Amino acid sequence: MKMSTLFTKTLKDAPQDAESANAKYLIRGGFVDQHMAGVYSYLPLGLRVLRKIQEIVREEMDAIGGQEILMPALLSSEPWKTSGRWDDPDCKEVMFQFKGAGDRDVCLGWTHEEIITPLVQKFVHSYQDLPVFVYQIQDKFRNELRAKSGILRGREFNMKDLYSFHTTEEELEEYYDKVLEAYRRVFTRCGIVALPTEASGGAFSKVSHEFQMPTDSGEDVVYVNQAGDYAWNKEIAPDLKDGAMAPDGSGPVKEMKAIEVGNIFKLKTRFTEPFKMTYMDAEGKPQPVMMGCYGIGPSRVVGSIVEAHHDDRGIIWPKSVAPFQVHIVSLSAKDESVQDRIRTTAEDLYEDLRKEGIDVIWDDRTGVSAGAKFADADLMGMPLRLVISEKTLAETSAEWKIRGEADARLVPLEGLMEEISSFVSEK
Ligand code: ATP
Ligand code: MG
Repeated sequence: MKMSTLFTKTLKDAPQDAESANAKYLIRGGFVDQHMAGVYSYLPLGLRVLRKIQEIVREEMDAIGGQEILMPALLSSEPWKTSGRWDDPDCKEVMFQFKGAGDRDVCLGWTHEEIITPLVQKFVHSYQDLPVFVYQIQDKFRNELRAKSGILRGREFNMKDLYSFHTTEEELEEYYDKVLEAYRRVFTRCGIVALPTEASGGAFSKVSHEFQMPTDSGEDVVYVNQAGDYAWNKEIAPDLKDGAMAPDGSGPVKEMKAIEVGNIFKLKTRFTEPFKMTYMDAEGKPQPVMMGCYGIGPSRVVGSIVEAHHDDRGIIWPKSVAPFQVHIVSLSAKDESVQDRIRTTAEDLYEDLRKEGIDVIWDDRTGVSAGAKFADADLMGMPLRLVISEKTLAETSAEWKIRGEADARLVPLEGLMEEISSFVSEK
């Protein structure tokens, strides 16, 4: 993409109410635009990041047998009345409920257990039809009380929700562990550290697991084990204290703030029972279906990555989710022939990279100072910045700088493509 054609522009200042780092940099960099508190548009740069995260999630869900579907977001109240959540005060608080045509009660989807259970029920009759793993990636709507942490807590936000259906509790447990491993891979691939964290399992299961990314900007409090690879949510372990022995006896824990980026839950028969979803076992006897649900918030992950990877100049995108891998900056020169050489060199490089399938943005704007271009590159945070200028061309080179590293160096134009290719493919 050429920056001269990008319809968004970077902003000098963030809106006053953008308190968190993710809101500040994502808005200033032209990744998202706030429509109202908790509701955002994804602009070309931000949409590329969101899509990359969704694709990582999709790959990992497909790898554990997930079949992707898309359920409606506009929902009838009927199944919610069946499950008892339509009038549950806690649920009512977040649900957007209103009247549709014919004065019917409807709501906007804020989670989909009530939709998926009767849907899968239509196709599951015997033990031979199970297990079933289905997921969707869709916007959810929740009337969150506070929505001031940028895209971390939206009133409309993106979610991947996976649901599994099993014949036995053992089979559910096994799949649950598989999802836990898949979630580890998702967050590692997205470039963040998210710890499996014990949380309350509700009325149906002793524990569930959240994936918590430790950061000072988090809303949750967790106690992290000594190895730094497991944690307990303060909500379920209220007696735990900073420095106290971990519940599993593995050593003292450390209290930290964290953001929940995903969670996995054994629902067992919480929803299959009210919907009377059963299957026939080998003896022809009806048995209850066991269910699990597993969520990840791709839009919250976008914000979490920014919280984890930024400095005082802007975002530092991990390669796996960066909107573009390479940011070419061509500078202007007084001499017209030099100026032409800068432009053709930058353009050739841009075209070669595109031919190689490498995501590249080229700051080809004229009449913009070098300082402004560098500030934009830092703010936007692509992993590799390549400068072509009079100075670099005098050495038949480009200036190579990795975002997040202090030093730049000159790399000869000859062999530059190979070096970029290997940089981009390195993990
Ligand atoms: P929280 O405790 O943060 O409100 P939750 O327990 O309500 O989260 P779930 O209903 O399990 O979350 O949703 C699954 C995932 O969706 C969460 O782990 C999180 O990544 C994401 N998510 C939930 N609520 C929001 C929101 N308001 N904005 C953005 N992402 C969200
Ligand atoms: Mg919530």
